[in-house]
Amino acid sequence: MGYINPLLDLPAGRRLRALPPEQRRAIEQVMRELRDQANVEAENAWRRRKGPMAAYWRAVATYARHTAHALSQPAICGRVSNGYACDLPAGSNCPDCGLALHDVPEGS
Ligand SMILES: [Zn+2]
Repeated sequence: MGYINPLLDLPAGRRLRALPPEQRRAIEQVMRELRDQANVEAENAWRRRKGPMAAYWRAVATYARHTAHALSQPAICGRVSNGYACDLPAGSNCPDCGLALHDVPEGS
């Protein structure tokens, strides 16, 4: 898949992509379940002629799928400086992050 959920470009979304592998795997699994269940709800709503609810559930499924996909990718740094979350691969030396500007608390 060559796309990324635009929400994951937000600082909070990048923080999600910076989580430790075991946490990203757990959330990815939940997101894939959410995608499947939301798709079922979308089909149910469509059959009951509830168009807006069908659209809502399809959007939920899409968001969950994009999030799961992003979480399946290698981790990013995710450190926030001046409101911008670094999207370099985790473990980079992050030349542009600026050590003093990193403000992601340890263990958060
Ligand atoms: Zn960085």
